[in-house]
Amino acid sequence: MEAFETIAVKRKKKGVFNLLGRVMLGLVGLFGLMLAAILILTIIGIIPGMAFMASSMLFVGIAFLDMQEVRCPHCHKKAGVHKKAEDFECKRCKRTTIIDWE
Ligand SMILES: [Zn+2]
Repeated sequence: MEAFETIAVKRKKKGVFNLLGRVMLGLVGLFGLMLAAILILTIIGIIPGMAFMASSMLFVGIAFLDMQEVRCPHCHKKAGVHKKAEDFECKRCKRTTIIDWE
């Protein structure tokens, strides 16, 4: 068994966006997803539709996920983690770090 490193992270009270901003962003994202779906259904619009869908999903993701940035203690790469996550796996060094929320 590998021993996991634990880092203490202060939970930020507010994300990048306040509630109103997140709702707006979520609505824009959902609207974008619908438009993208229509574009993809027309076949001709499949390529812009796909690009549109990807950016809309990003919008929805930002709106609904409560993310915070932490730094990997092994390789110091920044990683975004959900505020309810108990641990994360670093994308660069693949090591798992346990988060001790303060
Ligand atoms: Zn790392």
